[in-house]
Amino acid sequence: MSPTEPTAPETALFSKESARDGAREPALSSVSWSGQWKSCQDCIRDKVSADVFTQWILPLRVQEVGDNSLVLGVPDPLDVDHLARVYAGLVEHCFHETTGRRLRAQFRRQSVPQGPLNHAPAVPFSSLPAIDLNPNYTFEEFVVGNNSQFAYSASLAVAKEPGGTRFNPLLIYGGVGLGKTHLLQAIGNHIRREVPGKKIRYVTSEAFFREFVESIQHNRINEMSAFYRYEVDVLLMDDVQFLSGKDRTQEEFFHVFNFLHQSQKQIVLTSDAPPGELQGLQDRLVSRFQWGLFVDIQLPDRETREAILRRKAQALNLDISEEVISYLAEAIDSNIRILEGAIRQLLLQASIKHADITLELAEEIVRRTGSQRPERRVTAEDITTMVADYFVVEVDKILEQGRGTKEVAQARQLAMFLVKELTASSLKSIGQRFGGRDHSTVVHAIKTIEKAMDKDDSFRKSVDTILGKLKS
Ligand code: ADP
Ligand code: MG
Repeated sequence: MSPTEPTAPETALFSKESARDGAREPALSSVSWSGQWKSCQDCIRDKVSADVFTQWILPLRVQEVGDNSLVLGVPDPLDVDHLARVYAGLVEHCFHETTGRRLRAQFRRQSVPQGPLNHAPAVPFSSLPAIDLNPNYTFEEFVVGNNSQFAYSASLAVAKEPGGTRFNPLLIYGGVGLGKTHLLQAIGNHIRREVPGKKIRYVTSEAFFREFVESIQHNRINEMSAFYRYEVDVLLMDDVQFLSGKDRTQEEFFHVFNFLHQSQKQIVLTSDAPPGELQGLQDRLVSRFQWGLFVDIQLPDRETREAILRRKAQALNLDISEEVISYLAEAIDSNIRILEGAIRQLLLQASIKHADITLELAEEIVRRTGSQRPERRVTAEDITTMVADYFVVEVDKILEQGRGTKEVAQARQLAMFLVKELTASSLKSIGQRFGGRDHSTVVHAIKTIEKAMDKDDSFRKSVDTILGKLKS
């Protein structure tokens, strides 16, 4: 046990009290850590995509605040390196911005609280850091269009009467970046607000898989089973398609599903395809998915895209002309996450260049991110944007001639690697795209990434995540 304070479970529950008021106090009392960290998270939330935030930042817990360092607990030891490499700077920046303190961010595996007898009892399953709900994903923030009307209504019905409608399970399916996770979490946020006693579990199928594997490793499978049966009133499982091929996890999920369903607990699922087209899932599971209701989210039409842009700009306090809105809605027509990304890039570029948000700036951003057409193949632009977003570096920097910071250089190498993997580009054209480098530099980049993936599990996991997103 380190001489630091044990991680009290309550640090996981953000107390609202000192979020901003105590923000500039020089000395942090243990009580206010969580509030300070909450403000810092809010700052980070504005700067990264929702996915990055949910996957990397939300699970972090403050372990210790020293004179010079802010130590954050990480649930998965495999994530420690990636966090240190990619997000330390951003955390430090935001911590400084929100608290006035310059501390070095350090990441450590979440310590396990020890009992008085000094043998470590297992952490109660229910206090394992769950991926929490994003408070911005609400029904109010969801812009309903004819593409999502049905999914929205079904979600709202379920949120108002969890377990009490015929929509059990409710399965929302559709392409990437169209609002599935948003609606799923809106159900959770709504129930949490209206019926505070309900126990809501939001989990991605990947997280469920990892929990299952860890439970086996630590001999706690009974605990996990009991948790999902008795400690969950509303199960929100995101991206069930990732259970594909994971037979034992599917089996466990099958039993959880049956138990909850019989107990009239609400189950909501999302996936990238309708039940009948889910590959690699056992038939008995798929047939369960068809018991309730499955609804799709389609591509939004032009009017809906404009409405979404207006809403997002408003949320970011961004003054943006109708001309620019209309241009963006026309140019980016397939994915709302990318629309949102364009708005964020606009904000970033405008603040870096101290410039107004003009049509020219918008055009430049669209040119760089590349507009997305439905049923298109993954392009080098998609890859570059995704990698930039993931590593929180600017697209421009990746495309520059100069090497840039370590992070930029690594992001560039990864982008080159992925372009080679996923597109038909030649080594020569890849080199040209990324700052006019020659083809041997590209070969070197590919080898470096392959080696890093071999040696470093957390890096490999990052690459897998990006690949998964690009391919879906
Ligand atoms: P999916 O889970 O389908 O890949 P998400 O739910 O993560 O997509 O949505 C991607 C981003 O787009 C999120 O930030 C979400 O808030 C936003 N978004 C998607 N659909 C809408 C909508 N109809 N109104 C407002 N924002 C939306
Ligand atoms: Mg999603």
